[in-house]
Amino acid sequence: MRYRLLGRTDLNVSELAFGASPLGSVFGAFAEQDGIAAVRTALDAGINFFDVAPYYGATAAETVLGRALRGVDRGTYLLASKVGRDGRADFDFSARRVKRSVTESLRRLGTAHLDLIQCHDIEFGHPTQIVEETVPALRELQSEGLVRHVGITGYPLPELAQLAVRAGVDTVLSYCQYTLHDRRLAAWEERFREWGVGVINASPLAMGALTRRGAPDWHPGSFGFHTRCAEAADACEVVGGDLAKLALQFSAQTTPAATTVIGTSSSEEVRRNVACLTETIDQELLVAVETCLAPVRDQGWTSGPAAEQDLRREGRL
Ligand code: NAD
Repeated sequence: MRYRLLGRTDLNVSELAFGASPLGSVFGAFAEQDGIAAVRTALDAGINFFDVAPYYGATAAETVLGRALRGVDRGTYLLASKVGRDGRADFDFSARRVKRSVTESLRRLGTAHLDLIQCHDIEFGHPTQIVEETVPALRELQSEGLVRHVGITGYPLPELAQLAVRAGVDTVLSYCQYTLHDRRLAAWEERFREWGVGVINASPLAMGALTRRGAPDWHPGSFGFHTRCAEAADACEVVGGDLAKLALQFSAQTTPAATTVIGTSSSEEVRRNVACLTETIDQELLVAVETCLAPVRDQGWTSGPAAEQDLRREGRL
C-alpha cells in the first residue's frame, strides 16, 4: 500500500480508502460482524483512511464503524465524516446543526477528534451559507481540536471547485467521475493542486454500477447507462475477467487524486481490492470495456434538489 499527502494537509492517506456507506446497509443488508471484520481486514492490509457520514443508514454506518475501530490505536488510522445531510431530503448546514452533528459523530465513532470533516453534498445547500456560516463553524471546531481539517463533497465539479475556492477548504471529495465511464475529474486536478486543495476520488465502481451485480435501485444513472454497464460486465465475463476489478484498477492506479475510496462491508472484497492494486491492468480488456461504455462516457447525471424532484416524478425514489 502506498501513501500520499492529501493536498496541503498533514494527512498521509493510503492510496485505497475504506468507504463506509455499505456499513449503513446502503447497498443491501449485511451481517454487522462481517462489516466489522471488513474494517479490521482493511487495517491489516494497510488501509488507514476511513470515510463515513451520519447520512449513511441514518447514523448506522458511523455506529458500526465506531464499534469496528474500538480498541484500535487512534494514531494508526484517519477518520473522515460529514455534516449537513441527515436524510435523503434532510439538509441543514446551519452552524448550530453542524456543530452538534460533529459532537454526535464523535460519540458514535468513539473518538475525541475527526481528521477531516466535510460538508456533505454541497449542491443541496446554499453556497453563501456554506461559505459564511458552515465552514467558519467547522473552523471553530478545528481551533478547539475536535476536527483537524475541513472539506466539502458533492457531484457537480464546477460547483465543487467554485465553492472550494470561495470557502477556502482543505479538501474536496468527488465521486463517480474518475471511473471507466467518466473521467471529468481529471480536467480539474491541476486547478485543485494549484489551489492547494486535496482531492479524494470516491466510488470507483460508480456506486455498484460497474460490477456484475449492478447498481442498487436508488442509483441516479439512466437506463442506457446501466445497460452499457451490464454489457461491459458481459464483455469481461466472456474472457474470464471481472468488471469490478478492472474498474478499481483503472480508477485507483491512474487517478490523479491522493486516494480512491471504495465502499464495502466484506473482508473478501477488501482482500480482492487490495490485491488488484499491484496487478497490471489488462489493456485489451480495458479497450473492450471502454468501447461498451463510449456512448455514455462523461455524461453522468444531474444532482441537486431539481434532479431529486425528477427522480420522484419518475417513481425511482
Ligand atoms: P463504490 O463505487 O465504491 O461501490 C460500492 C459497491 O461495490 C458496494 O456494493 C460494494 O459491495 C461493491 N464492491 C466493492 N468491491 C467489490 C468487488 N471487488 N467486486 C464486486 N463488488 C464490489 O461506491 P460507494 O460505496 O458509493 O463509494 C465509495 C465511498 O465513497 C462511499 O462508501 C462513501 O464513503 C464515499 N462517497 C461519498 C459521497 C459523498 O460524500 N457525496 C458520494 C459517494 C461516495
